[in-house]
Amino acid sequence: TDKAQLMNEETIRRAITRIAHEILEKNQGVKDLVLIGIRRRGVPLALRLQQKIQEIEGVQVPLGALDITLYRDDLTTLDVQPVIHKTEVPFSLTKKTVVLVDDVLYTGRTVRAALDALIDIGRPQAIQLAVLIDRGHRELPIRADFVGKNVPTSKREVISVRVAEVDGEEGVSIQDM
Ligand code: 5GP
Ligand code: MG
Repeated sequence: TDKAQLMNEETIRRAITRIAHEILEKNQGVKDLVLIGIRRRGVPLALRLQQKIQEIEGVQVPLGALDITLYRDDLTTLDVQPVIHKTEVPFSLTKKTVVLVDDVLYTGRTVRAALDALIDIGRPQAIQLAVLIDRGHRELPIRADFVGKNVPTSKREVISVRVAEVDGEEGVSIQDM
């Protein structure tokens, strides 16, 4: 059951616009910048950041994707196995500033696995993290550099993120599991 609508099409769009500006401000432009979306919904969000950055700076930054799944027996266990299914990074990461993009940041395990994968692929200068929603409950010392919205949750709740490219509609809501 939907408890509360947290974002709609308009507020998602504004958050993406703000994050694009924050990325450019932090990195003083697009030089050596690349975007990597985490499948599934991190990829359309990364594409929107790429488009917004192009609008602002007139430059299309490279965009890649990682496909990572977490297998959890139980949502509270520490025994979580991240599995890297596929990496689509058809460009060099050497000396690049990589902005990883995901929809929701929770324990941090997916991002940790993504960091391992990126470091295997190349030698980035820096890796930053952008997420649409930070729902808290980190189990690792990982934080996002760019956050659309901080949403305090209980572990029993789940954030529903819908993006048009995947779900045919736009919205973020909080639900009981
Ligand atoms: P973590 O690895 O930080 O525990 O979880 C983050 C990954 O799991 C992200 O790729 C995200 O898509 C997914 N995830 C974790 N919690 C939620 C949630 O409440 N809602 C959604 N939509 N995805 C979540
Ligand atoms: Mg995910």
